[in-house]
Amino acid sequence: MGYNQKMFGLGSKRSIIREIFEYSKTRAKEIGAENVYDFSLGNPSVPAPAEVNGTIKELLDSESSVLLHGYTSAQGDAGVRAAIADSINERFGVGISPNLVYMTCGAAASLSICLRALVEDGSEDECVVFAPFFTEYRVFIENAGAKIVVSEPAEKTLQIDIADFESRINEKTKAVIVNSPNNPSGVVYTEDTVKALCEVLKRKSEEYGKTIYLIADEPYRELVYSGVDVPYLMNYYDNTLVCYSYSKSLSLPGERIGYIAVSPTMEDTTDIYLAVCGAGRSLGYVCAPSLFQQVIARCINAKVNVEAYKENRDILYKNLTEYGYECVKPDGAFYLFVKALEDDAYKFYERAKAHEILVVPCDDFGVKGYVRIAYCTDKSRVEGALPAFKALAEEYKNNR
Ligand code: PLP
Repeated sequence: MGYNQKMFGLGSKRSIIREIFEYSKTRAKEIGAENVYDFSLGNPSVPAPAEVNGTIKELLDSESSVLLHGYTSAQGDAGVRAAIADSINERFGVGISPNLVYMTCGAAASLSICLRALVEDGSEDECVVFAPFFTEYRVFIENAGAKIVVSEPAEKTLQIDIADFESRINEKTKAVIVNSPNNPSGVVYTEDTVKALCEVLKRKSEEYGKTIYLIADEPYRELVYSGVDVPYLMNYYDNTLVCYSYSKSLSLPGERIGYIAVSPTMEDTTDIYLAVCGAGRSLGYVCAPSLFQQVIARCINAKVNVEAYKENRDILYKNLTEYGYECVKPDGAFYLFVKALEDDAYKFYERAKAHEILVVPCDDFGVKGYVRIAYCTDKSRVEGALPAFKALAEEYKNNR
């Protein structure tokens, strides 16, 4: 066969989330969209800040076509990178220079580029991820030529199980991906967890006489509730690359804009940054969208209404736990990770579907027996779904 079978496999295997999305559309036509409780997609429901939309309009009216629609330098516009570096330094005090910021088409690109920059061709490099994890990590890691290694979480809290993590590291470990606030659990890793993780990384790097890189995947950094602190990993570990995106923090997932920040205290910072530039080039990214680079620079302090997500979280958490569902109370992102009411998450998903509730069975996220509820949706939909969630729980209680 004259084409790449691995790519064919990726393209032809529909993800469960897409499958549910298609079903949701069909079902909405049959019974009306208001009667389908679709919690499958992580598409932000809160609108982008008015400041962002206003800035786009202003830019279109006032700036030159070259600035808005032309190529920027591959690593991004220098002024934009300076604005981002200033913002990082103000908030986290890491002393990063604009020359260590690389603009990308969102976190997916940031991750693919970082992995391509770090993993050596023809090596047996491994990359550790923490379950539950964003399913695309497997695709990005394997595409970079590395092997994915999954570390199991602490059972009750879904924090990192440090002993398990340590047991997953060996002389082949090249990188570790940390995602906090987490998709799909909504858990924010505590400072104690982060310190313990970094202590292991330092000790193991020394033991094996090699650098193990830490990749912080942070698209949900700003979506946290009740002032919960999300430790900035560069402040805890020198060999850190931050993959950031405005997809969720500014509700701009379709605009494809984010960045990579390389820690200034890394052992070989400049070389790693150049490898990032090379990886972006080899993957054909050319440059991040010019218009949205300019928008970001002008809206660096803009925020979405996180309260709307918190309200949904509170309603769902309070009621579902009352009905007998078990889940860790999420401190961030917009997901609730709920234990299925039977061992097989897929069967539970099917039974929920009979009540018009669409949730995602999470076996592919590395933890069996759970489903994800994406509550980035209207409050009315969350409230409307409660009787169905209750009926589903009662059906299980009554062994029906
Ligand atoms: N990382 C995590 C944990 C995500 O949940 C997502 C998207 O849902 C991404 C990365 C990719 O985000 P982006 O739209 O910025 O590419």
